[in-house]
Amino acid sequence: MDETVDETVLSGEGPSDDDLPVVVVGAGPAGLTAAAHLLGRGLSPLVLEAGAVAGAAVREWHHVRVFSRWGELVDAAAEKLLAPTGWRAPDPDSYPTGWEWAQKYLQPLADVLGERVRYDTRVTGVSRRGWDRVVDAARGNEPLTVRMQSARGEERITARAVIDASGTWGLPNPLGADGLPALGEPAATERIRYRVPDLTDPTERARYAGKHIALAGSGHSALTALVAFAELAATEPGTRVEWLLRRGKVGNAFGGGDADQLPARGALGQRAARAVAAGHITTVPGFRTAAVHRDGDGLVLESFDGVRVGPVAEVVALTGFRPDLSFLSEVRLDLDPVLQAPRALAPLIDPNVHSCGTVYPHGAAELAHPEPDLYLVGMKSYGRAPTYLSLTGYEQVRSVVAAIAGDREAAERVELVLPETGVCSGGGLIEQPGDAAPEGGCCVPAAPVVVGLAAPAGAGR
Ligand SMILES: Cc1cc2nc3c(=O)[nH]c(=O)nc-3n(C[C@H](O)[C@H](O)[C@H](O)COP(=O)(O)OP(=O)(O)OC[C@H]3O[C@@H](n4cnc5c(N)ncnc54)[C@H](O)[C@@H]3O)c2cc1C
Repeated sequence: MDETVDETVLSGEGPSDDDLPVVVVGAGPAGLTAAAHLLGRGLSPLVLEAGAVAGAAVREWHHVRVFSRWGELVDAAAEKLLAPTGWRAPDPDSYPTGWEWAQKYLQPLADVLGERVRYDTRVTGVSRRGWDRVVDAARGNEPLTVRMQSARGEERITARAVIDASGTWGLPNPLGADGLPALGEPAATERIRYRVPDLTDPTERARYAGKHIALAGSGHSALTALVAFAELAATEPGTRVEWLLRRGKVGNAFGGGDADQLPARGALGQRAARAVAAGHITTVPGFRTAAVHRDGDGLVLESFDGVRVGPVAEVVALTGFRPDLSFLSEVRLDLDPVLQAPRALAPLIDPNVHSCGTVYPHGAAELAHPEPDLYLVGMKSYGRAPTYLSLTGYEQVRSVVAAIAGDREAAERVELVLPETGVCSGGGLIEQPGDAAPEGGCCVPAAPVVVGLAAPAGAGR
């Protein structure tokens, strides 16, 4: 079906801007929480979700158990919205899998929002009504419009504000260490996976059982995969893993262990360390992939230094994610040139500087752009930084929604306490052999802080 619908009245007739919906891109944890806050303030959310269900991205890693407790994954405004339906919060001290997070919280929340969530609807563009990004005069006078694609065809809707909570899951980083696909990588994708394999699934298990595997990456997804592969190797003879690390030594890749203020995150690092020590995993530090070569039935990976690994039967690349900015080409963003995160937020989360996961309180002020009424929130707000926690996103959207509602005082009063990783040694990205941890660390101790961002500090909640 190729139908074009234009809900915009270019002459300016139609609803006043205050009656327009606030369009939220993505029905993930951040987007649905934003919708709950919008409803709570009497505004009209319209959530546009590319997938067929709520938490479509979270469901793709359904088999991974998160390291945040349920109590940190449920937002207070959402809980308030859910309460009249008889919804009962799961045990706050237990840890859900991705599937449980989606099924027991995100979907019920979306169901309460009802027709305010539109599924199978992909946002393809955001702009000012009738004007491209070049025209100054339109800014502040014309509302935003959102272009979307669904089975109904292509549509354009006018919005009071746009909250982009579309995450980064759709754009995994390539294997190539320079950020570009390695030479030969696109032609070898049937042997390369960019997600944590689900080894409880018989088909996926068979894909890796008894095989020689290369695993690239050192974040939490890579640690999760290391643990899963070690368990596979213990029962399936012949399973071997080459763990490719871009950094020059393992260093703090296993995290802070007992010092991590999220115990399950610390425990994951310890389990990964034990998995490596068990003997089926060979660590290859300082390996920056430049090329992928075919070798008979297998693949050989070559580094920028000319080191070769393989042939391996399978490659798993867990090298992080990046934001999709393609549908924001006609709005004025102020993004950090390194992280592609909002410029004011970037220094707080830059992994070149911070490894400990603390982030200073931030909200609408840091997330604003030169384009009025447009905000990037949730995982996408972190750009390429790897340390995002949903707790951060919930506080972001509370502040952003307050700003959209015109409640400046509530928008500026940002309260956030994030658990440290226990690895507060400064640069978190590339450790070289011989690097010493800088004295004093990079992070302030995590203590409850209430900071007024534009107003005088200390304004209470
Ligand atoms: C394996 C894994 C484990 C994690 N564990 C934790 C944890 O323990 N604790 C924690 O706090 N965080 C964790 N995170 C990080 C983070 O909390 C999650 O990634 C979370 O899902 C991010 O929420 P979000 O709403 O920002 O984005 P997403 O969950 O990615 O949701 C974005 C939504 O937008 C939709 N979308 C994308 N593009 C478009 C478009 N153009 N138009 C319409 N819809 C679109 C997607 O389909 C998706 O449903 C984990 C992440 C991963 C990958």
